[in-house]
Amino acid sequence: MKSEQSSLFDAVLAAHARYGTAEGGANASYIPFLAGVPSNLAAIAAMTVDGAICAAGDADYAFALESISKVCTLALAMEDVGPDAVREKIGVDPTGLPFNSVMALELHNGKPLSPLVNAGAMATVSLLRASNNEERWQRVLDMQSALAGSPVTLSDEVNKSEQATNFHNRAIAWLLSSADSMFCDPMDACDVYTRQCSTLVTTRQLASMAATLAAQGRSPVTGRQVLKCEHVPCVLAEMTMEGLYERSGDWAYTVGVPAKSGVGGGIMAVVPGVMGLAAFSPPLDDAGNSVRGQLMVADVAKALGLSLFDRR
Ligand code: GLN
Repeated sequence: MKSEQSSLFDAVLAAHARYGTAEGGANASYIPFLAGVPSNLAAIAAMTVDGAICAAGDADYAFALESISKVCTLALAMEDVGPDAVREKIGVDPTGLPFNSVMALELHNGKPLSPLVNAGAMATVSLLRASNNEERWQRVLDMQSALAGSPVTLSDEVNKSEQATNFHNRAIAWLLSSADSMFCDPMDACDVYTRQCSTLVTTRQLASMAATLAAQGRSPVTGRQVLKCEHVPCVLAEMTMEGLYERSGDWAYTVGVPAKSGVGGGIMAVVPGVMGLAAFSPPLDDAGNSVRGQLMVADVAKALGLSLFDRR
């Protein structure tokens, strides 16, 4: 095990050295806060299902979770209403279109198709059990912390920046409502969704979230069973289908591990039964995925032969 861990550390260090300064991409600019995050930041971390962690680069820098939060809320909805309700009410297919596409909704009679696009994520929020919106938000935040195995907190600064500019998402929430695909007040769902995107995590915490999914829903840090183990394959299948939006197929083809990105520059990947990987760097490709984050995670996956589709 010692040599396995040192080869993991070697792979993490090598990936950061190779790709931590790679060129290409640009910070998200439609959310003012994200445009101002230093573009040169780069980090990678890995946590095994036993809780051993290694990291390289700016792994303690806290950045906005953004769409990676969709995985946490999906996990909570699975606990609340079960995988069948998620599949029937939201859908579990790729849209093939950008994460905030209105056309994707129009093409499918207002059904979001996936909990990992903005429309589906807001619909997922609306499925959660709560007697009021503050309780709904608190449960979402608690799930983020439980998956990370340490407290995750809201950034008021990020939240204000997002709430002041989220008109497109508000429009999507109303469209969902008009198509009977929204199951609570649409502005409440949009508000909680916006807050869940505005929490801060470090790359180490993100690796720990991924490791909880790798460990069948049990946090390697706290030992707590955060979601039912039978829900984990459903979450991972959905990450494979839509985790990197229009680039999800390309990612499965070339890297072969379920992953989820956020426009804050984070990406997490899950190797079931083995480890969670996470990377962070703000510049994004045109689908909204971290350029360096993808390169670093892909490099570790290749070095260690982690593709789920290659069981030689
Ligand atoms: N808060 C962002 C949005 O709603 C999250 C998008 C993302 O990370 N892909 O647009």
